[in-house]
Amino acid sequence: MEEIELCDSSLNEECGIFALHKVEDAGVLSYYGLHSLQHRGQEACGIATSDDKLILTRKGKGLVTDVFDKAKLDEIGANAIHAVGHVLYCKHGSNIQENIQPIMVRSHQGTFALVHNGEIVNANHLRYELEQEGSIFQGTSDTEVIAHLIQRARGSMAEKILAACEKMQGAYSMVIMTKNTMYAVRDPLGLRPLCLGSLNGGYAVSSESCAFTIVNAEHIRDIKPGEILKMGKDRFDSIMFASRELPTICAMEYIYFSRPDSDIDNINVHISRKACGRELARQDDVKADIVVGVPDSSLSASQGYAEESCLPNEMGLIKNRYIGRTFIWPRQSDRERGVKMKLSAVRSIVAGKKVILVDDSIVRGTTCRRIVNHLFAAGALEVHVRIASAPLKYPCFYGIDLHTREELISANMSVEEICQHIGATSLKFLPFETLRKILGANICSACFTGDYPIPIPERMPFYDYNNC
Ligand code: SF4
Repeated sequence: MEEIELCDSSLNEECGIFALHKVEDAGVLSYYGLHSLQHRGQEACGIATSDDKLILTRKGKGLVTDVFDKAKLDEIGANAIHAVGHVLYCKHGSNIQENIQPIMVRSHQGTFALVHNGEIVNANHLRYELEQEGSIFQGTSDTEVIAHLIQRARGSMAEKILAACEKMQGAYSMVIMTKNTMYAVRDPLGLRPLCLGSLNGGYAVSSESCAFTIVNAEHIRDIKPGEILKMGKDRFDSIMFASRELPTICAMEYIYFSRPDSDIDNINVHISRKACGRELARQDDVKADIVVGVPDSSLSASQGYAEESCLPNEMGLIKNRYIGRTFIWPRQSDRERGVKMKLSAVRSIVAGKKVILVDDSIVRGTTCRRIVNHLFAAGALEVHVRIASAPLKYPCFYGIDLHTREELISANMSVEEICQHIGATSLKFLPFETLRKILGANICSACFTGDYPIPIPERMPFYDYNNC
């Protein structure tokens, strides 16, 4: 077997949310829910619980299984009937303790815990204003800006959240938990996913529906774009602050981030990826022997390609399950040093074969180049790379850790040049229009087209809070 070391060259998600309202054993169950969302962030995690009277919280750096053991869950979970949990991917080098969520706010007005997935594009401006008005910040995250906006607003908690939402621009799916009430909120475009489930007469909220399975919750629906869902003691209220019915969900949730067993806004992730693979095959005329998918996120697309082309879908690449998704570590030095993801090219499967290699996307091209190299080293005769999405040409400002065009190989090279760079026999992408047809018109596709659904305000470089 040819072993492949993969340094970071992929896309990084920034966070997952899981919450339970009025559910017995909410602390322990939220641990399991968070575990199912671990792929969305591996650097830190936390859970806040409430028994209707007191909010307790535990958080720390590391995986869910590193941060929580039975004793820790007992400390916060003994009588808990509400819980909010979070898994974190830190962006822009903001890997500091104070950024770990839930963010807790304790004041004479009451206590609340906040978890957030997304990115507030005007966070620096809002933070500057808040600081001018006397707010003091502990960390560098935009989530803390949200907490301050809520805290400073007047009125009921729902009114305070509404007032904060009116000031924020960008992507935010979030849950706010007071001692006895929970609020699930999705931004006016619904850029990041957030869904609602039911469990034993209570409610579950999650970034992805895959987390409902482990706690036996039933997926009811997605939180609507521009909705504040208030779950109280006996009441359930939906407050709409934007009139949009359909979301503009991030296309990369379907292509790469989410688990294949999740349904997002009524579309199953596996099925959408498979459809992309099928379309790739329909538009292809290359003669090959086998189809090989890059584990794990490209396996659905490779299955679709293989079914459509009537070629065998082979396990030509094997992932070492015990290393984890090391590429979501944020610092380049971490990624390049000891923490390397390993894939193995299986010589007895690929040797002497013309291989169709299906991958979900190309970001910087380094991972793809290594995989192609190792397939050839394992004896492949030809390696035809087929990408089940369109070329990524523009940065994302809505919660994905890709902030410059320089990082994106497709922004800087033609398809022919990329093919040469990665050493493939041939290279094809799924045309953007085909992708849009499969995923529907209601997607954010800014990283493919540069058409940003929310304008990006000018950055405030003199307030780079991570370097203060
Ligand atoms: S720019 Fe791309 S990665 Fe960012 S939200 Fe839009 S589709 Fe998703």
